Amino acid sequence: MNKKRVYTFGNGKAEGQANMKNLLGGKGANLAEMNLIGVPVPPGFTITTEVCSEYYELGRDKVVSLLQEDVKNAIANIEQLMNATFGDIENPLLVSVRSGARASMPGMMDTILNLGLNDDVVEGLIRKTNNPRFAWDSYRRFVQMYGDVVLGMKPVNKEDIDPFEEIIEELKEERGVKLDNELSVDDLKLLVSKFKKAVKNQTGHDFPTSAYDQLWGAICAVFDSWMNDRAILYRKMEGIPAEWGTAVNVQAMVFGNMGETSATGVCFSRDAGSGEDLFNGEYLINAQGEDVVAGIRTPQQITKVGSQRWAELACVSEEERLAKYPSMEEAMPSIYAELDALQTKLENHYKDMQDMEFTVQEGKLWFLQTRNGKRTGFAMVKIAMDLLREGMIDEKTALFRVEPNKLDELLHPVFDKKALKVASVIAKGLPASPGAATGQIVFFADDAAEWHAKGHKVIMVRIETSPEDLAGMAVAQGILTARGGMTSHAAVVARGMGKCCVSGAGALKIDYKNKTMQVGDLVLKEGDYISLNGSNGEVYLGQIQTKEAELSDDFRELMTLADKYTKLKVRTNADTPCDAQIARNFGAVGIGLCRTEHMFFEGEKIKAMREMILSEDTEGRVKALSKILPYQQADFKGIFRAMDGCPVTVRLLDPPLHEFVPHDLKGQEDMAAMMGVSVKKIQERVESLSEQNPMLGHRGCRLGNTYPEITEMQTLAILGAALELKAEGIHTYPEIMVPLIGNVVEFQQQEAVIRTTAEKLFAEKGDSIEFTVGTMIEVPRAALTADKVASSAEFFSFGTNDLTQMTFGYSRDDIASFLPVYLDKKILQVDPFQVLDQEGVGQLVRMATEKGRSIRPDLKCGICGEHGGEPSSVKFCHRVGLNYVSCSPFRVPIARLAAAQAAIEG
Ligand code: PEP
Ligand code: MG
Repeated sequence: MNKKRVYTFGNGKAEGQANMKNLLGGKGANLAEMNLIGVPVPPGFTITTEVCSEYYELGRDKVVSLLQEDVKNAIANIEQLMNATFGDIENPLLVSVRSGARASMPGMMDTILNLGLNDDVVEGLIRKTNNPRFAWDSYRRFVQMYGDVVLGMKPVNKEDIDPFEEIIEELKEERGVKLDNELSVDDLKLLVSKFKKAVKNQTGHDFPTSAYDQLWGAICAVFDSWMNDRAILYRKMEGIPAEWGTAVNVQAMVFGNMGETSATGVCFSRDAGSGEDLFNGEYLINAQGEDVVAGIRTPQQITKVGSQRWAELACVSEEERLAKYPSMEEAMPSIYAELDALQTKLENHYKDMQDMEFTVQEGKLWFLQTRNGKRTGFAMVKIAMDLLREGMIDEKTALFRVEPNKLDELLHPVFDKKALKVASVIAKGLPASPGAATGQIVFFADDAAEWHAKGHKVIMVRIETSPEDLAGMAVAQGILTARGGMTSHAAVVARGMGKCCVSGAGALKIDYKNKTMQVGDLVLKEGDYISLNGSNGEVYLGQIQTKEAELSDDFRELMTLADKYTKLKVRTNADTPCDAQIARNFGAVGIGLCRTEHMFFEGEKIKAMREMILSEDTEGRVKALSKILPYQQADFKGIFRAMDGCPVTVRLLDPPLHEFVPHDLKGQEDMAAMMGVSVKKIQERVESLSEQNPMLGHRGCRLGNTYPEITEMQTLAILGAALELKAEGIHTYPEIMVPLIGNVVEFQQQEAVIRTTAEKLFAEKGDSIEFTVGTMIEVPRAALTADKVASSAEFFSFGTNDLTQMTFGYSRDDIASFLPVYLDKKILQVDPFQVLDQEGVGQLVRMATEKGRSIRPDLKCGICGEHGGEPSSVKFCHRVGLNYVSCSPFRVPIARLAAAQAAIEG
């Protein structure tokens, strides 16, 4: 039997259907399906993906001859349905040619429109449309598109100029006009002849005039495009096999600019912004598709309600609206009724909000395309829950209708859309913590506090932040840094606070002395307004209005639904009772990481801490630590109280000590006075603490092992707090965590200090608390020797920030200097500090979990690096069998949804 290579569709009939994506590509299957359910689409045909493989096996000539008869018959079918003839001068049929693979591959090949035109046919088109300008414009676009795409005239390098664009620019300059549409009809004619000359010059051949020659050229160009560099790279990134091939769709062109009974437009079955179940869209009478988006004419609304809403916003009176901008419902009532019925049909069929394009040609409605519509995070949640309530989709489908990351939009303030449209971007950094912020520039924490106290909204701008900046960050609307990656101090702290942050904006030059920041020639000073978009990393000049986040009932219902399917628990990273409470409200079931160093910075605490660090002997340190103990204990009480009944993992002190000491003269003088020593002595000590590589230096458990008295004090504070709360009837489940071990002995010695201190405390108090002692796995060696570690440690928490740093050898704080280049050159597909590198770092996580559980089968394993709130990483954690993920409070909902999706995916 002859292999079927061409599938026709049109007039309610189709040889293919929706489930034939593999053979017909996504687009082809969809076009067939629309026909079958009674949606009028311009007739056409699809050449199968299998032919693409034949093309590469047998070559062009063989495939063209194999297809010859089928394509001729399929064109005849279109001619009959459209009552026009391909290549005919009197009544020409024009077609479009598009690629369409199984999986969508945006930008693989440009569409070719108006195929079938030549110098004679263009006259026929003029007679048909009565619009010489349109006909000649279509012709010149066709020659340009065909030249670029089919004849290979598009420059390979981005920097090179398209030969056709060059010709257009020359002519515009000659005519003294700026826009393409200012050229006359004669100019367009001239362009066509110049274009054809350019084709001859560059390719050595005349531009093809026969419609069939044009068609074969276009069909083969689609197949060729399957192997172009862009497509190969895209397939590699998305894991799409080359054998899949692409289909080719050829379809009749229809025109919305054939007079007052013709129109073109786009519509949505629901509101893409709010999610409301409200049919809406825009159209233009006597126009072609591009006019709707080009902004030359004001598009009109499709529905009467939409039109009235629009008029109100645009301050247009009802009389003017009806006269100049009537809705389609009013201007073309019967076509509108048909459109409305069909949009409902399409939504019911695809069970999702549809984004549709249509054209009305002389009173006949045609759908050109339907697809699931893009929507805001807010609309995503509302539409999913509405469709679930309407019985259109089931619970699991509803959970997959929301992209976890899109939930961010519901949790943080966003910019007012209109205001954002006119804003100018002055720099770009990493989208370190989502949300929108607008305020006045300040450079120092003290200034931030001062300005804030006076009622100003401030943006804190720093080269990079350190714990000293915490108080300023806390009162700022947002944080902008010139250096630092996605796990830099600024990024991690801002996310914890739910505050907008853009980090690593390398174009900024910050001058602390003069309190200025410079980008290019623009110099901004303290007090000037800027705005930040922490969701895309953009920095804008001036103030932009923001809108506060509101949590909807739909959001809450979605979260409850997620929990029904989730296996992985979601905890939070929180260091204050307030953050802990926010996270609990978002559904966190424990704290997976409490970074205790953040507790040392306020008021008296930092003084005592500095005293401890600057002391020369154990005795001095113990004395200073005894001053810190009550503060720490009170802090832990606050957190345990907020997390009543939930486990709390408290990590022992982690950062290098030099982060706590004063680096400015004033601070050093204060310290000297307080401790009764010379400033010089203080300076010497500060100097002695400085390190070449602090990230790899005296930090983590290396501190506790060199100064066990710190571990002792922290153990007393943690367990002392728990004991006091026990007396109040509050349930605590402390998990004491040792950071940065690479060798089991590092852990064992710390564990011994913790347990001995606990025993002493319990004996003294005559009461006890159940607690566990575990470790972070964040040094590759700890992962490699996880079985040994698990013989002592009662739980593992993967610190994937440090683990990523040490596995790749990329500094967490300095990656911004080369990351953009690496992403651009595709050396990295994503920032590994944002998205867990499953292949490398993930391998360590998987192996350590398996090794650990081989020794201790019930070993509790979690993750507390920043990846714990990133959807693909959360799904990985589920697959590896971790017990929980822990993330900053505002990411808890995202992690809950991703965890539910992971459980359903199995
Ligand atoms: C980590 O390294 O992943 C971690 C959570 O610890 P920190 O970010 O505090 O180094
Ligand atoms: Mg760490």
